[in-house]
Amino acid sequence: MADLNEPEVENVPLPNREPLCRVGIVLREDSKSKMVLELPAGRFKLEEGETSFLLDSQSAVDLIFEAQGNEIVCFESDGAAPIHSGDTLSIEPLKVQETLLPKGGMLLKGVVAGRGFHWQKEVDLTYPGRLEFFAREGNLIVVNVLPMEAYLACVVTSEMSGACPAEFLKAQATAARSWMMVFLKNKHTGEPFSICNDDCCQRYQGTTFLSDHVAGAVERSRGMFIVTEEGYLCAAYYSKSCGGIMERAQNIFGEGAVGISEKPDAPDGSITSDFNPVTEENIREWVTGKFLKKSDSFCSPNVCPEETLPKYLGAVDEAGKYYRWRVEYARQELEDILRQKAGVADMAEFVDFHPIQRGNSGRLHELGIIYRDGGANLKTLTVKSQYEIRRVLHEKFLFSSAFVWDFERDADGRINKIALRGAGWGHGVGLCQIGALGMSLQGHSYEDIIKHYYSGCTLVRAYE
Ligand SMILES: [Zn+2]
Ligand SMILES: [Zn+2]
Repeated sequence: MADLNEPEVENVPLPNREPLCRVGIVLREDSKSKMVLELPAGRFKLEEGETSFLLDSQSAVDLIFEAQGNEIVCFESDGAAPIHSGDTLSIEPLKVQETLLPKGGMLLKGVVAGRGFHWQKEVDLTYPGRLEFFAREGNLIVVNVLPMEAYLACVVTSEMSGACPAEFLKAQATAARSWMMVFLKNKHTGEPFSICNDDCCQRYQGTTFLSDHVAGAVERSRGMFIVTEEGYLCAAYYSKSCGGIMERAQNIFGEGAVGISEKPDAPDGSITSDFNPVTEENIREWVTGKFLKKSDSFCSPNVCPEETLPKYLGAVDEAGKYYRWRVEYARQELEDILRQKAGVADMAEFVDFHPIQRGNSGRLHELGIIYRDGGANLKTLTVKSQYEIRRVLHEKFLFSSAFVWDFERDADGRINKIALRGAGWGHGVGLCQIGALGMSLQGHSYEDIIKHYYSGCTLVRAYE
């Protein structure tokens, strides 16, 4: 979902053939020293340095991979003698091309999904292609190596469910394909992979949720890229819900992000246009106003009813309200979160918020948090970037930084409760996944969807 502050965008030309992707599926920070891999019946090649071994089994077998310092060791069962060890161990099915099927490939148990976000959990996932195991100071790193189009078919079903219309899936695949090429090289320098499996890059859960419908839709967009007027690949950012207006890319990702729309996520002439840009003056109406009942924004519940979203959202997403949401804290609760996540050890009492800078979608890019220290002195903590604001204001992660606040006070005027009411989920730049879904449900084409979210770009097929 590309939700972090990205490195500066570089001008990247179109590829002339299908690239191979190296996806980190277990990272150092997951602190896994041992994992179980279940091989289905069939023939596999295991490589230990220069030597390769054939594994041939009539039924599913478990292999245990353990990081011992910087050495990776493979066992058939706990307590047994190691069968393989080395700097790197890798394993792949002999018929690699046959693993891009729903639940096809090898099953890795206990993979972290939603790393660091409010929906983090551990799941068992199946992976097509080749798996490489590395050990770094006792921690496992597992990398899945596979062709880009196979990777994309999996990404699209990991991000959104196979129940989505084909036009949406083609648009999502094309955005993910373009984004991926731009960031293939510079997201995780120094690691044995180029992208990771989570919202830091793009959510990837192998073939676990793959459907034929999704694989077919991705195949029909094969090799298609979003290209800027200058002929370079567009850094095609996307997020779950813009909240009704697409945030200006440069506000979040710097001057290199070009070709991306910054307008209402709604038909021309929509009432939403009256709020563009969202400012300190109109944000309360934007987030809570009566106009929302008749909003025709593509990501609004009038187009995508929120009770139907669980059918379309990826399997690890929490069902909930994203177009407009509400979070409440007791004052002490918010103070605890701020002490812990913003590191304000001297905070004795939260006093107020001070909005410093908002983008055109209403997202705060700079926020002052006013508090009293133990000596009753007023102090201000300034939080910069929508990412940091969302990180420090929630135990896990706040949906977006486009919010207003209300305080409930006691008889002495001290704050008891804080309510945040906000719009959207994610950074809001580029394709809005719920909005693009809404457009496809209304019958808009793949090309229309891309044109709407990346209006400074064209679609180009780079390889067959
Ligand atoms: Zn990443
Ligand atoms: Zn939207």
